[in-house]
Amino acid sequence: MKIHEYQAKEILRKYGVATPRGCPCFSVEEAVEAAKKIGGKVWVVKAQIHAGGRGKGGGVKLAGSLEEVRQHAGQILGMQLKTHQTGPEGQKVRRLLVEEGADIKKELYLGMVVDRGSQRVVLMASSEGGMDIEEVAAKSPEKIHRVAIDPVQGLAEGDAEDIARKIGVPQKGVAQARDFLKGLYRAFDEMDASLAEINPLIVTGDERVLALDAKMNFDDNALFRHADIVAMRDLDKEDPAEIEASKHDLSYIQLDGNIGCLVNGAGLAMATMDIIKLYGGSPANFLDVGGGASTEKVTEAFKIMLRNPRLRAILVNIFGGIMKCDVIAEGVVAAARQVSLKVPLVVRLEGTNVDIGKRILAESGLPIISGSNMADAAQKVVAAATGK
Ligand code: GDP
Ligand code: MG
Repeated sequence: MKIHEYQAKEILRKYGVATPRGCPCFSVEEAVEAAKKIGGKVWVVKAQIHAGGRGKGGGVKLAGSLEEVRQHAGQILGMQLKTHQTGPEGQKVRRLLVEEGADIKKELYLGMVVDRGSQRVVLMASSEGGMDIEEVAAKSPEKIHRVAIDPVQGLAEGDAEDIARKIGVPQKGVAQARDFLKGLYRAFDEMDASLAEINPLIVTGDERVLALDAKMNFDDNALFRHADIVAMRDLDKEDPAEIEASKHDLSYIQLDGNIGCLVNGAGLAMATMDIIKLYGGSPANFLDVGGGASTEKVTEAFKIMLRNPRLRAILVNIFGGIMKCDVIAEGVVAAARQVSLKVPLVVRLEGTNVDIGKRILAESGLPIISGSNMADAAQKVVAAATGK
């Protein structure tokens, strides 16, 4: 799960991580009031969307007066912000963060991820902040320093100080940077984050480090123990079909093709998308209905797929292992009737009670196309989607 920059900064502050003072705002008036309250002479007006690269896209603006805060807020709020991470359609800006302007001496980079290789949280840091870290990694990998953190001990003081020096934190700021890094790790660990990125981490004129930007993602499987993070969810930034699917316990990912797939098991769902591609088609979604493909679940799955205006055909590919094929066939027939299906439906069933299942489909009176195996079903659904 993703959250906004201002929310990540709220969490990090609780762990003693230094951030600029700021206020989230939902209107131009609120932005001006926030700037007044913060005080000072320079403010930053920042678009809050679930993507980086906002600076380059015009979503981060410096203001030298309250009038400029008003202008920038008016311009950014409501804009369709396009960055290299939003895709060509961009994201609509509905929230702002107004912050005190920072005195930037240097821009550094900090990242934390769960590294499967070492089975630890790895801290990555670089003197090359503010820009695309991917480019630094590709062109000058020696400028990225890494520490794998011991889960029992936490981030060791020596390691934190060492990293701070390596990325160019001046000696006067090393102790504060160490506490910053330790706080960042504690936040990451206790909140079950999957990613934290501070880009840029800045060194200020008085040689302190400060999180100028903050991004945090969380492990969805741990959200049950973080009601406070769940409350930060911005549904406006998530795909409505995926939100609907998660309510019905369906794993659904919208894709850009036109063949809907309804499959049990993630592995079979991946293989189904591959074989559709192999025969020249393009999947409209990934959908794993899981082990218990009840009539209700299949019906909801059909409804979610049918919301997609690009949908031209549906392929149901079910292996009846624990689930029996006759139960699934009944579910598919009931669901197709309930949603009065208008697009061609190809069904491939295999496993327990497959003969009874196929008979139920054939005797349903519905124009269901039966696939005898995966290749046959994929070819049939590609043909149906392209109208050949
Ligand atoms: P991103 O582009 O989405 O990653 O947004 P950032 O929060 O990283 O901001 C982009 C850039 O704006 C930073 O790298 C800074 O150079 C600049 N910026 C952000 N806040 C301030 C500030 O308080 N003062 C100044 N001078 N520049 C800022
Ligand atoms: Mg940034």
